[in-house]
Amino acid sequence: MAENNARLSLWYFLALILIILLAQQYFTGSNKENINYSDFRKLVEEKGVDDLVISTDNIEGHLLPKGVEYLSKVRKDPKLAAKLKEKFKKEPLFSTVRVSDPGLIKLLDQKGLKYRAVHEKVWLTSLLSLIIPTLLLVGIFIYFFRKIGTGAGGLMSVGKSKAKVYMEDETKVTFQDVAGVEEAEEELKEIIEFLKTPAKFQALGGNIPKGVMVVGPPGTGKTLLARAVAGEAGVPFLSLSGSDFVEMFVGVGAARVRDLFAQAQEKAPCIIFIDELDAVGKARGLSPMSGPEERENTLNQLLSEMDGFDTRKGVIIMAATNRPEILDPALIRPGRFDRHILVDRPSLIGREDILKIHTRKVKLGPDVNLNTLAARTPGMVGADLANIVNEAALLAARKDKTAVEMEDFEEAIDRVVAGLEKRNRVMNPREKEIVAYHETGHALVAEALPTTDPVHRVSIIPRGIGALGYTMQLPTEDRYLMTKTELEDRMAVMMGGRVAEELHLQEISTGAQNDLYRATDIARSMVREYGMSEKLGPMTFERERRPLFLETMMPPGTKDYSEATAQEIDQEVSRLVERAHARAREILEQRRDTLEQVAQVLLEKEVLEGDELRRFLNNAAQQDSSPDHE
Ligand code: ADP
Ligand code: MG
Ligand code: ZN
Repeated sequence: MAENNARLSLWYFLALILIILLAQQYFTGSNKENINYSDFRKLVEEKGVDDLVISTDNIEGHLLPKGVEYLSKVRKDPKLAAKLKEKFKKEPLFSTVRVSDPGLIKLLDQKGLKYRAVHEKVWLTSLLSLIIPTLLLVGIFIYFFRKIGTGAGGLMSVGKSKAKVYMEDETKVTFQDVAGVEEAEEELKEIIEFLKTPAKFQALGGNIPKGVMVVGPPGTGKTLLARAVAGEAGVPFLSLSGSDFVEMFVGVGAARVRDLFAQAQEKAPCIIFIDELDAVGKARGLSPMSGPEERENTLNQLLSEMDGFDTRKGVIIMAATNRPEILDPALIRPGRFDRHILVDRPSLIGREDILKIHTRKVKLGPDVNLNTLAARTPGMVGADLANIVNEAALLAARKDKTAVEMEDFEEAIDRVVAGLEKRNRVMNPREKEIVAYHETGHALVAEALPTTDPVHRVSIIPRGIGALGYTMQLPTEDRYLMTKTELEDRMAVMMGGRVAEELHLQEISTGAQNDLYRATDIARSMVREYGMSEKLGPMTFERERRPLFLETMMPPGTKDYSEATAQEIDQEVSRLVERAHARAREILEQRRDTLEQVAQVLLEKEVLEGDELRRFLNNAAQQDSSPDHE
């Protein structure tokens, strides 16, 4: 597109020059009959010319009928008179190049011809010599402005086409095409309702979120989900990828954002979708390289467009990212991307459903069992599963089969797994077992202690590198203060994972590293900041957080206390951690059977909701009525 525009303006430019040249020709008089000087001399003698204009370089004037007659004779052209009449309509003009001829004036006087001298069309040449360079400059300017304009998508309106806003009037994707993300779909229902009938919401004065951020690992269907929202609501889908914003040309990103929002205004109700938001939304000042200023401009433009945007018009801004932690905090403030929707790796059932979707158009052999396939692909995301189906179909085709059979799927899984294993995303069964016990340990300790938040969900579906499973606790209320007991309980929960590994395997793994780190962190804060250690008393050993510029003046790590105190602090920290460990061990030893049972269920189902877990615990409690069960 840009090249086209540039070429177009180049044509304009050439045409302009041509016009100038023609104009110049017109003024310099090619529309006069050129005759040579000897003929002119004769014509003067014959009185075939009149009204002469003599300039430094040439002589022009009127060609009288007598002159034409003479000329047609000399040129042996009987039709000359007719031709000249055709050309000039009225009396023909002539022009001849002047030669040094001292006797000419005398001759003219003799013949009584009218003549006058001009100073070489000064006004014309000077005008032209002024106009031509000016026009040339203007032309060049226009040319380059266009070029920049096309890049910036706005300096000149032609530039609009360059912005890679990807628009679909109908995405033709619905929730039927997305599986394993039911929770996210549920949360998006409200948005869809709003997009369907913005007027209804306007009338009610309902509060509709402006920005919805879809967060989740790569390949889990974030983009797909956003398109499905547009498809479900039947509204246009305008999308732009974050990486498109970050361009070399300064101002391009910002202009694209502006363009995107302008287009959205016209198309409302619609969805604006910014994929890979992290590419633009990286916290300002986070990366010193790769044109931070340009990204910052783009980000600022995005923020101001979002602020100036009226949701009631029916435009919802969606964004996707797999790295929410690096986003600029300004992006997730209220009124911007304040609604977050998690799209996690699919569970066993989710994977089966995704496989169902992707095998809809594939001819399956009778032996294909999607449930078995789902069980074989823990940790895989929708994109991986789509890949497996595709790969299996290719394998079957290569073997000239009429249907895709189980062995093709098995082979495809092996191939995809081999690819993923390199990227550290798939667990082997042994690892899965360890993770199941570990997470169960966290969950049981959390449920056993009165002050901790109830368990929301336990999962052994790996997410990202490092975290192999997770136990999610939801706080029942917002917390500003935490008591010592609460902190200690929290540490015990963190130790629960490791203790469960110890009990089950008589062995420990590296999986608890993060837990230990966090537990130690709490212990250190308790001793150093909150004065919660009995031995050291209500003292704080941590300097208050100072503004950054003061911090740099005072190097971190400067201690205001002695080596002996430092040692004591270390001892207190490790005592607290060890106590948490002992508590977790006590709790889990009392619940050995429950630990086994829950871990096995988790191994099988991969995800346990908090309520399911509690039902389990209640049953166990009824059986052995141990006193500190809830
Ligand atoms: P993301 O944007 O999260 O990286 P995409 O939406 O680009 O993932 O997913 C890539 C492809 O993988 C989709 O086009 C779709 O074919 C498949 N896919 C991913 N997640 C799902 C899902 N939950 N249900 C069905 N297909 C999925
Ligand atoms: Mg995507
Ligand atoms: Zn853990």
